[in-house]
Amino acid sequence: MIGRFKYDNEVFHGKVRGDRVIVDRGLYSDTFLLSDLEILPPSYPGKIICVGLNYIDHARELGMPLPKNPLIFLKPPSAILGHTGKIEYPDQAERVDYEGELAVVIGKRCKNVRSHEAGSVIMGYTCFNDVTARDLQKEDGQWTRSKSFDTFAPFGPFIRDSELDVSDLSIRTRVNGKLRQDSRTSNLIFNVPILIEFISRIMTLEPGDVIATGTPPGVGELHEGDGVEVEIEGIGILKNSVVRNSE
Ligand code: MG
Repeated sequence: MIGRFKYDNEVFHGKVRGDRVIVDRGLYSDTFLLSDLEILPPSYPGKIICVGLNYIDHARELGMPLPKNPLIFLKPPSAILGHTGKIEYPDQAERVDYEGELAVVIGKRCKNVRSHEAGSVIMGYTCFNDVTARDLQKEDGQWTRSKSFDTFAPFGPFIRDSELDVSDLSIRTRVNGKLRQDSRTSNLIFNVPILIEFISRIMTLEPGDVIATGTPPGVGELHEGDGVEVEIEGIGILKNSVVRNSE
C-alpha cells in the first residue's frame, strides 16, 4: 500500500507496512509511525474522471436502460479529501448523498491506451466516495455544481498496487455502521480496462489522475454528524464524517 502523508510541513509518499510508514530517501529510508502522520489523499490528481450509471444492479434499481458508452463527468481537484477528513454539507444543498466507488489511480502519462494494455498505466486502486448534492443535480440538469463542492471527493486511505485483480471484489458502504451498499465489482457494466481505453481516447491521462468507476445500488442520504465508510475487499476502508459548513 502506498500513501501520501504530511509531517512537519513536509508532504511525501510512503509505503504502509502495518502501523509503520517507510519513506524512500534514495540512499536511505525513514520509518515513521503511521499514527504520527497526517494521512493526505493518496494522490494529487490534475483531474478526477467519474463514471455515472456503471453497475448493472444500480441501472436495474433505477429502471434505466444500460448505457451504450460510459457516461463520464469531472470533479475538480479542489474537491479532494483524505481518509478521516470531514465532508462539509453545503448551505445551498438540501440533500447530500454518498456513492461508494472503486477508484483507479493513473501511474503514467498516456493517451489512446488499448484495453489490453491498460494495466501498464495503472498505479493502483483505492476507495472513493462520489459525494453528490442530489437536489442540485436534479435542479441544474447537469452535474458540475452538485458534484464539485470542496470535500466532495474523499478517496483513500491508501493505494493498493496494480497487481490486485479488481474484476470481482466486494464493495460496501456503511453509514453509522449500517450497511447501505453491498455489491461486487463484477457488476460493473464497463470494467477498468474498457474505461481506460474509452477515457484515454478523449483526454491525456497524467500520473495521479483518478478514475472513479461508478456506484452500486443503495445510494442514500448523509446528514450532519454521520460517519460514512467505503470498504473494498483487498484495498481498505475509507472513513469520513459529515459536518455543517458554518462559515
Ligand atoms: Mg458516482
